[in-house]
Amino acid sequence: SAIRVRRALLSVSDKSGLVDQARKLAAMGVELVSTGGTSKLLKEAGLAVKDVADLTGFPEMMDGRVKTLHPAVHGGLLYLRDNPSHVKDAETHGIGAIDLIYVNLYPFEATVASGADFETCIENIDIGGPAMLRAAAKNGAFVAVCTDGGDVDAVIADMEANDGQVPVSLCRKLAAKTYARTAAYDAAISGWYADQLGESAPDWAAIGGKLQEALRYGENPHQKAAFYVTGATRPGVATAKQLQGKALSYNNINDTDAAYELIGELGAETPTVAIIKHANPCGVAQGKTIIEAYRAALACDSTSAFGGIVALNRPLDETTAKEISQVFTEVVIAPGADAAAEAVFAKKKNLRLLITEGLPDPAAPGHFVKTVAGGFLMQDRDFGRITRADLKVVTKIAPTEQQLDDLLFAWRVAKHVKSNTIVYAKDGATVGVGAGQMSRIDSARIAARKAEDAAEVAGWPEPRTKGCVAASDAFFPFADGLLQAASAGAVAVIQPGGSIRDDEVIAAADEAGLAMVFTGMRHFRH
Ligand code: 5GP
Repeated sequence: SAIRVRRALLSVSDKSGLVDQARKLAAMGVELVSTGGTSKLLKEAGLAVKDVADLTGFPEMMDGRVKTLHPAVHGGLLYLRDNPSHVKDAETHGIGAIDLIYVNLYPFEATVASGADFETCIENIDIGGPAMLRAAAKNGAFVAVCTDGGDVDAVIADMEANDGQVPVSLCRKLAAKTYARTAAYDAAISGWYADQLGESAPDWAAIGGKLQEALRYGENPHQKAAFYVTGATRPGVATAKQLQGKALSYNNINDTDAAYELIGELGAETPTVAIIKHANPCGVAQGKTIIEAYRAALACDSTSAFGGIVALNRPLDETTAKEISQVFTEVVIAPGADAAAEAVFAKKKNLRLLITEGLPDPAAPGHFVKTVAGGFLMQDRDFGRITRADLKVVTKIAPTEQQLDDLLFAWRVAKHVKSNTIVYAKDGATVGVGAGQMSRIDSARIAARKAEDAAEVAGWPEPRTKGCVAASDAFFPFADGLLQAASAGAVAVIQPGGSIRDDEVIAAADEAGLAMVFTGMRHFRH
């Protein structure tokens, strides 16, 4: 079955393509009804348009807050054409059917993205638009409801092919799409509002989102994928400005996020660089300058850095840009880049350069969502943070000042490595990262082997794990993992503690001459 379109209501903020579409509708004998700005545009284009005010008998008022909120509009959208009492009501009150509606909403998300103030964002919350869309979609068997230009094109194409008629099957599809749009719109408002109050967005808002872009594919080429944004203004991959390079892929976005969140964790104080592969860091370092930090990060595992993501906590400079260019790199993200650095990258057409406004706040509230078969899990983001004051020395030997700095650095890196995690670090740089193993002892072994490989690549006499510190994202259930770290050369260890065998593990640390501190907090990351 199909509906015949006799009257269309057009009320759009984004007016691109509208005149052509309205002309096509008019050519098929459709009566056009429209709101202020939309109507003006169509009239200027020489089209016959009726104003909503003529339907309602009310002018638009209160700065446009009230334009279409009236029974003449909502009745026309909502009455069931095959229900005699509805038809009678419509006749009694002089309400005519509206068979097609095209509404795109006040650009709330774009207004937020532009950095507008609170009042401006509030004014850009569309009220009548979503109300009309939801009404029309409820009457989906009788109204063709369009939320973007593509929908209108599809409806027009069907009308042209079917003598002005639209199949109900298409109307139903559009109705389903409409509720996704209005839900995402409200989720964006809710997320922004909570952000303004410094609160965590309500749970459901965290998974509402606006389609930012369809991606070429997902984690693998046979998976479809898209990127949705929640409207939160946090510096990061969703709000960064891409200065150059190909479009970001699904994996790029995922890895860049991991890289920049880690950078945020390590703060702004010292120049810091993180290199990420498959969402795990393969090298993280701090230095007196950003180039020093990059070199030290690269030295940790230059083999894995191939095809990696590089994140910086300082603006990119020319020297660093040149050295990054020498390694195949997918994405660079930084809170700025100077002109000389941009010029270096301009020669690398495929390299994506993302610029953010500042660093992510590691303590910011937020959510983490993961799907499971038939549902999804939601939790706070891991904004737990350990400072020096939280550390409890549990061994006879206490760490030195330098070791304490390295322990805290290794700990913060370990938080951003997939569990089970062992991170070896020395002088503000990771020297071995063991990620994502099913046993902690394997992670300790792998981290040590990475350090051996790095020594071989660089021609160092011995792996840099000699005299390093070790971080474990969760407690050592047995002494074996700890002893593995000690045998790799670790002299100080940071871990949450809390195992029933803590006494055994502490005794083993004392016997091996290690200094060990407990954080009292673990950072599983799966
Ligand atoms: P126009 O440019 O035609 O004056 O306004 C079009 C915009 O107004 C559309 O984005 C539409 O969603 C919105 N709109 C339509 N009716 C109402 C209403 O009653 N209240 C508010 N706040 N917005 C409306």
